[in-house]
Amino acid sequence: MFLLLCMCLVGFFAPRGDAQDRAALWRGNDRSGRCQYTFTVASPAEASCPQAGGPEMEAVKARLSTLEALVSRLTDGGRVAGATAADSGAELREAMNRAVGERNLLQGEKERLERELGSLQRRLEEMLRETETLRNTPCSPQTPAVPDGGLMRPAADPAWQQSFQELKAEVTQVPAPEEYTGCGVLASVSEPVTHRKADSIAGKYGVWMQDPEAVTPHGSDTVWRIDTVGSDVRQLFSYESLEQLSKGFPTKVVLLPEPVEGTGGVLYRGSLYYQRRRSRTLIRFDLASERVAARRDLPHAGFHGQFPYSWGGYTDIDLAVDERGLWAVYSTSKAKGAVVLSRLDPHDLRVTRSWETNIRKNGVANAFVICGRLYTVASYAAANTTVNYVYDTESSRGHALAIPFQNKYRYNSMIDYNPTQKKLFAWDNFHMVSYDVRLGRPTPAA
Ligand code: CA
Repeated sequence: MFLLLCMCLVGFFAPRGDAQDRAALWRGNDRSGRCQYTFTVASPAEASCPQAGGPEMEAVKARLSTLEALVSRLTDGGRVAGATAADSGAELREAMNRAVGERNLLQGEKERLERELGSLQRRLEEMLRETETLRNTPCSPQTPAVPDGGLMRPAADPAWQQSFQELKAEVTQVPAPEEYTGCGVLASVSEPVTHRKADSIAGKYGVWMQDPEAVTPHGSDTVWRIDTVGSDVRQLFSYESLEQLSKGFPTKVVLLPEPVEGTGGVLYRGSLYYQRRRSRTLIRFDLASERVAARRDLPHAGFHGQFPYSWGGYTDIDLAVDERGLWAVYSTSKAKGAVVLSRLDPHDLRVTRSWETNIRKNGVANAFVICGRLYTVASYAAANTTVNYVYDTESSRGHALAIPFQNKYRYNSMIDYNPTQKKLFAWDNFHMVSYDVRLGRPTPAA
């Protein structure tokens, strides 16, 4: 490059050198517009020249500066290009090194993850094997025990399991209870329905009923009520309907001519039947005429606390009504406290027939009669008690029962059956309640 530059400089100055050997004339214009002529000749010494340069020299200088700048740029450019190439190589090497390092890191991470995956797969296989083992293992012998007549036997006992399966099959095969509408045996008693709560202490216990065979002027809807707490109970309240009883609006209050004892009164065929206070005398009070229609002593009947029900209350004589008529439940000295059941003539109160049962009267809470069968309730205070005994007047035999019965208010002082409504009416600790009963087909054993 330097050689090329020298040749160019020689070529540039060579013609001018020739011209310096001859005289030269320049023509031009000055600032005032006049022509100006300049004549130049070579002199023996440069210092004697009237002018050191001139326009031509200036042009040469300018061209020289241009060439110098060009040479300088070319030399600098080569130097920069070389430096840039060197820098780029270093950067490339550095980038390469980084990439290799990152590749190595990723490779290491991949190997670690592969090791972890292998470990997880081994654990999964172990858990699957354990699950399969548990599935195939028979149940522990510590099975829950089940009651069996007071004994506890493990349910895993094969003999017991067979018996249990047979028993279950028998239970399954028991047919559903048949709907029976005839005069049958008591099958169940519903929960009590509360109709009214008495307003005063006189109503802690009492009697309330509807006449199952009502006669004019009173209908079967009329409700009758006697609050029996007190020493001279005579008020008989009459309500037009159950709804009026619930609202507490009596139609009228009848004053009975003889005071009432106990809670054994009943309504039947237009009359109130009840025990006169401190006596074994039964009274039939006709509701239409409001007069005593009949009165008669119940032969040998205990009274005024001699043979009451378990809760006391002078409940020695309990009257009852069923599909077959009027009954008296009581006891005598001859029966030694056992319940005596007598059928009464509803017109004149004569005893037409009597049965002596084998259950003690003061051992039961109350009694009612359904279809010629006497039923007793075990407890007057237990919330969940039972109808625990039945006596059949047709067979003259009795036996134990266990039909659930609820004393919702824990002090049940009166229970009687209404054969038309198939309900039990009861007076439980200020509350007048009723129960639906379901009857079943009688069997010879019943
Ligand atoms: Ca009764």
